[in-house]
Amino acid sequence: MNDIPSQVQDIETLIKLQEAETEIVRLKSVLEKFEKEKSKLGEKLKQFSTALEENKENFSKAADVCHDLEREIQMVDDRIVKSNEKLRMVKTNKEYQLFLREVDDNKKRKDALETELIERLDEKEKLEGKVQETQKEFNLLETQIDSDQKEIEKKTIEDREMLDEYLENQAKIGKTLDPSLMNRFNKISKMNQGLAVVNVKNEVCMGCFMNIPPQLYIEVQRGKSLISCPQCSRILYHIKK
Ligand SMILES: [Zn+2]
Repeated sequence: MNDIPSQVQDIETLIKLQEAETEIVRLKSVLEKFEKEKSKLGEKLKQFSTALEENKENFSKAADVCHDLEREIQMVDDRIVKSNEKLRMVKTNKEYQLFLREVDDNKKRKDALETELIERLDEKEKLEGKVQETQKEFNLLETQIDSDQKEIEKKTIEDREMLDEYLENQAKIGKTLDPSLMNRFNKISKMNQGLAVVNVKNEVCMGCFMNIPPQLYIEVQRGKSLISCPQCSRILYHIKK
């Protein structure tokens, strides 16, 4: 143990830490994608539900209109009956003409209302069909989305377990590192989408793919001190073949 320089130990620990970090970043992104997929499906169902509610409301309004028309027709009918009764008891020609016109006007009004009612009933029927159709489609979509979401949930369970494992592992490794080095790692990782420790191949940093100065490359190859890439600040290492 004593004959291994502490910097070499550090770089080995940092590589392990990076391996865990890389997996954590990857799994988090996979899980995030699944979450987005799930919420997109939920959004789709919500939109469809809103459309269904709208159709139901339109149908309900149309039904109300029909109901109002039927009531008005009934009222006009009552008026016609009353006018006819009055007509039978009139004493003067003037009164006769007056009630006759009343009956006539009300009959015309009733005709107009009945024509409108036919149109409105037709409309109501169409809207009812639309509600039934949308309801059927909604039910199908709901079943489909429900099973899709369950499928996604199943897929994420394994990833979540793996993520927990890596997080635990990362914490364990982190405890063996000097806190200031751990801070340095976290800072660089945050700046570089989770990639803080990278290999150098043929004088090229595998983090930013820029050339590093030859003298620095030699130092990295020696592995006796922690070298940062002058371009991206990532901690560099070199694997000896
Ligand atoms: Zn670099």
